Parts: sequence; C-alpha cells; structure tokens
Amino acid sequence: MFEIKGLKKNFGDLEVLKGIHTTIRKGEVVVVIGPSGSGKSTFIRCLNLLETPTEGQIFFEGSCITDKGYAVHKHREKVGMVFQQFNLFNNLTILENVTISLKKVKKVPAPAAEEKARALLRRVGLEDKADAYPAQLSGGQKQRIAIVRAMAMEPDVMLFDEPTSALDPEMVGEVLSVIQDLAKEGVTMVVVTHEMGFAKKVGTRILFMDGGVIAEEGTPQQIFEDPQNERTKDFLSKVI
Ligand code: ADP
Ligand code: MG
Repeated sequence: MFEIKGLKKNFGDLEVLKGIHTTIRKGEVVVVIGPSGSGKSTFIRCLNLLETPTEGQIFFEGSCITDKGYAVHKHREKVGMVFQQFNLFNNLTILENVTISLKKVKKVPAPAAEEKARALLRRVGLEDKADAYPAQLSGGQKQRIAIVRAMAMEPDVMLFDEPTSALDPEMVGEVLSVIQDLAKEGVTMVVVTHEMGFAKKVGTRILFMDGGVIAEEGTPQQIFEDPQNERTKDFLSKVI
C-alpha cells in the first residue's frame, strides 16, 4: 500500500527524518512507537502529505505521491487521519461533522450521506448524539466521532497520531476498542501510540523510531520480548 524510500524531512536546519525506509502492506496494523521528538508525527503526516518530504520517495498503491503535480486532494480522500486533538468542526452537529465531506467531496446526496453516518454512529454506540454539538461530548466520544468521520469516506488506509493521548484515562479504552474493531475488520492502519498494551495486542508490526530513523522493526513479539537494539531496550525499559 505504501512504499517509503529514503524519506527525509527538514524544518529549516533541523533534520527531523533522516532516511526512512519501510513498506506498509494491505491489511497490516503498523504501530509506531518511540520517544517524544523522534519524528513519529512528522513521518505519519508525510504519508498523507500534510508535510512535504524534503528528500526521498513515497509510493502509494503504485503511484509516486512525492512527484510534483501529484493530486494531493485525491490522495487525502484515500487516506483517513485521526489526530490527538480530534479536530471536529465545533459549529456543526455530530451528524454534520460526519456527513460534510461525504456531501462536499464525494458528492453523496444528503439522505444517503445521513443514512451512512447514522449507521456508523450506531456501530460506535453514539447514534443518540447525532444532533449534539462537539462541546456536549466527552473526549472519548469526540474521538470516536473523529474516527467515524474518517471511516465514512471509506479510505484505503487509516492513520492515527496518538489518538488517546489527549484523553482522560477512563476514556482511553473505549477509543482503543473502536480502533481494534477496525483492525479486526482488516482495515489497513498506521497508529502512533504510547499504549504498549494496544501495540502488543493489535499491532501486526511495530516500528520503533528514534532520532528520525526506524531504529528497529519487527513483530510485537520480536520488539517487546526480544528487542535487539540498545535504544529499543532503553525505551521499553522506561515505558513498560
Ligand atoms: P514525535 O511525534 O515523535 O514527538 P515530531 O515529528 O512531532 O516527533 O517532531 C520531531 C522534531 O521535529 C521535534 O524536534 C519537533 O520540534 C520538530 N518539528 C516538528 N514539526 C515542526 C515544524 N512544523 N517546524 C519546526 N520543527 C518541527
Ligand atoms: Mg507526535
């Protein structure tokens, strides 16, 4: 689905990504872990071109998306993203939040868009919130809505950047379980998280990032039970 070759990203003089090489296959749940500032967000943001790579190539479903002139908006329709801070439209109801892109971008007629949105809301147990505004919801509910909003567009892959880091602890589980359900359905995803239990249970592959590179990657069993890299061992000793 993604092939990433020699990806680099600088902000001014600061080299944040120093050469990332990896492949993300259909159906994989790739979990990205690593210390703060290691470039995890920058990496995941490059995958939907929220950041423009400085060097290197990213191929998506066979097309080189880092080529000049690649249709960024078309790419973003195929790549759903969920952020730490939800990014819902506060002046729109929940139903409108979920349907707006369907109507405006995909040109789905309003009744069909609403029917689809209600079905998705039902799946995450929030159908009764359709007419509420984001301010009336808890953080966990807002994040479940943000996931529904992204899934409504039927993306080929979902990107999550620390989806539970802004939540009170008691709400983390409800959001992780929605993500886990998507994983069970076979949705391809890349998840940046500090939730190591989730990474172990749901991840099909773990990327450990440190200092702008993938320092180590492997199955959850390899990374959590038998890490090879000293930096991986050091990081895990601090977070587990
Ligand atoms: P992580 O998500 O692993 O914490 P980030 O990708 O957010 O790491 O950041 C990596 C480094 O890049 C940090 O030093 C951060 O300050 C820097 N950085 C991120 N975004 C920007 C930006 N837009 N402008 C300047 N520096 C940035
Ligand atoms: Mg980050």
